[in-house]
Amino acid sequence: MYTLLVEVYLGVPFGYEPDDEMRKLLEDFREMINFCIDYAYKRRITSYARLRRGVYGEWKRRWNYSTHFCHSACKIALAMLKKHRKKHKKGKPEAKKLFMQLDPQLYRFYGDKIRISVRPRKFIFINLKFGEYQKKFIDAWREGKLKTGEITVNENKIIIPFKKEVDLQNPREWIAIDINESNVTAVSSNPHVLRVDHELRTIHTTYFIIRRKIQKLARYKPKTARRLLKNYSDREKNRTRDLCHKISKEIVNFARQNNLGIVMEDLKGIRKRIRYGRQMNRRLHSWNFRDLQFYIDYKARLNGLPVEYVNPRGTSSLCPICGGKLAPNGHRLLRCLRCGYESDRDVTAGINMLRMRGAPLPLKAINEDSSPLLSEMERIVIKC
Ligand SMILES: [Zn+2]
Repeated sequence: MYTLLVEVYLGVPFGYEPDDEMRKLLEDFREMINFCIDYAYKRRITSYARLRRGVYGEWKRRWNYSTHFCHSACKIALAMLKKHRKKHKKGKPEAKKLFMQLDPQLYRFYGDKIRISVRPRKFIFINLKFGEYQKKFIDAWREGKLKTGEITVNENKIIIPFKKEVDLQNPREWIAIDINESNVTAVSSNPHVLRVDHELRTIHTTYFIIRRKIQKLARYKPKTARRLLKNYSDREKNRTRDLCHKISKEIVNFARQNNLGIVMEDLKGIRKRIRYGRQMNRRLHSWNFRDLQFYIDYKARLNGLPVEYVNPRGTSSLCPICGGKLAPNGHRLLRCLRCGYESDRDVTAGINMLRMRGAPLPLKAINEDSSPLLSEMERIVIKC
């Protein structure tokens, strides 16, 4: 086995309240970006070095800030122009929102606050607002386990990327994770079936019913109704978030103990794919599907486990053995019309994902009997 050192980034948002100085800096920075866009657009400049050389004299005359702000504005301006061109839009883009990106030379992180260098010997100190989630990163940073990268600052948030050099081992075995409304089923090539039964759907249904009752009240007491809705929606969010953390922890712990790489469905742009059907859309909209994937992803990476995504097309409709069409056959079971493969719907999705990753399949004696010998796969059921 060989080891692979990889830098892993995770952007962590911190709250803050900008004072007048900070607001002025943000407004000036927006002007700098638009100035750079204008300069590059008129001269058709796409190279960073050329733009930086071209604008520097005038930039220096207009703004009295550290030179690094000029670098950053040029970089952002070029990125915005590029994005604009890619979309085949006419004219030039314009920075409207207040934001800036600062490389580590322009700021210093102290854990609970941050110092931004405006110009030599002139600094702005900002107190950061944070909770338990952010605190874990601060602690790891204090212990020297994490480094910070280029930060993004807007009107009320500072996003600090934490990076870690992790030893991403090259696992021979993988685990595919299929997320459903009532359970998360993980199928590993070693072979195991890990099922985490969860109550995310129940929580959402409970709060849905509560909300409907409150809405009836809104006719008579609109203010009370609004307050109640807010309270319950916060409570719902907290409960589901805690549960997502718990579920992802179980799965990543299992993967780490068995040294398994993680495979998940790539769900970017899935809403555009109408053919995928109502079932999929409903489960995507109804609860924090992406949150759960995100938690699994970052927990895995922090533990040095590789995470890969595969196209979800066909994972629950095609036979993992022969590629034939699968038909429902009883409760949550699927059967292949061509070769007779038969298995649980969620397990099948996992096997298909492993196959797409090129991982060994948890199947035995495929030639004699094309069904996966689920009885020989160790089943673990966890309740969350
Ligand atoms: Zn088949």
